[in-house]
Amino acid sequence: MKITNKLGLPDMLVRAVEKEYNYRDKRYSITSLLDNDRVIMLKRRYSNLIEQDVSDSIWMLFGTFTHFALENIELKENEFVEEHLEHTFDNGYTLSGIVDHIDEEYCDDYKTTSVWTIIYKSNDEKWKKQLQMGAYLHYKKHGVWKSKGRIIAILKDWNKKELLNNEDYPKLPVEVINFDLGTPEEVEKMILKRFDEIIELEKLADNQLPMCSLEERFNNGDKYVVIKKGGKRATKVHDTKEEAEKHLENLEKNYAGQYEIQLRKGEDTKCLHYCNCNKFCPYYLMNYDKDIKEIHEELAENTEKEINEKMGE
Ligand code: SF4
Repeated sequence: MKITNKLGLPDMLVRAVEKEYNYRDKRYSITSLLDNDRVIMLKRRYSNLIEQDVSDSIWMLFGTFTHFALENIELKENEFVEEHLEHTFDNGYTLSGIVDHIDEEYCDDYKTTSVWTIIYKSNDEKWKKQLQMGAYLHYKKHGVWKSKGRIIAILKDWNKKELLNNEDYPKLPVEVINFDLGTPEEVEKMILKRFDEIIELEKLADNQLPMCSLEERFNNGDKYVVIKKGGKRATKVHDTKEEAEKHLENLEKNYAGQYEIQLRKGEDTKCLHYCNCNKFCPYYLMNYDKDIKEIHEELAENTEKEINEKMGE
């Protein structure tokens, strides 16, 4: 990964970010296994070419500083902080990870995140798997299984005023989320299944990699708006064409010919703004890279012409 520093931030931040990205064959970190298929592979294949600016990694670094702070506390018996762990399976693949904190009872991880991640529970599934894999690596090294996990989430955008408007809003800028981590056998099965998937993904060319889902692309999907002809503001936004057609049908009864349906394409927000491997992703290149998009459209046009000519023969 090429780390850039467009804002000229202190050099120590660049070195701290560089330390976070280091890929080795058949060795996957817990966090990389949790990424979606296409992103994992592209990040590894083009790690020497992908650029990441230090300014985009500030919150990740903030998390790292929390870890440094934890490392300096006095430990009790059977308590571990920032334990660097790895385990190689019979298939030759290695799982590596750093577990923030383990004590007699819990396996913990500290996160800096948004309040909305807590309210919508959008990372709960990923966090549980992360804790499970961390607990598993600890178990392989020490033979002691921790069945309870906690995410200690530090909420970077917490705002006291919001407490009055939303009863689901976290009461403090820190929230502890508890997870049942199951058994080591269950977790081992899950990890081996993921490595089987990885082995298959490694054989695929870039354009054969499974596509990121709408959700993974932060895309809310296409919308159909019913709008007055020539107007700017939608009367109503619908998720499906059928709903919009029904709505238009009703309007036609009193306002014949005055309204129409327009398609609003959903935006691939992650591809456009947050995916650092987008320049190497065939989907992005085809849809958003101006030059490649033009070549593709020209090819499609020529093919259509050829087909039409042949049909006319
Ligand atoms: S550019 Fe979009 S589709 Fe491609 S890897 Fe990134 S998020 Fe997925």
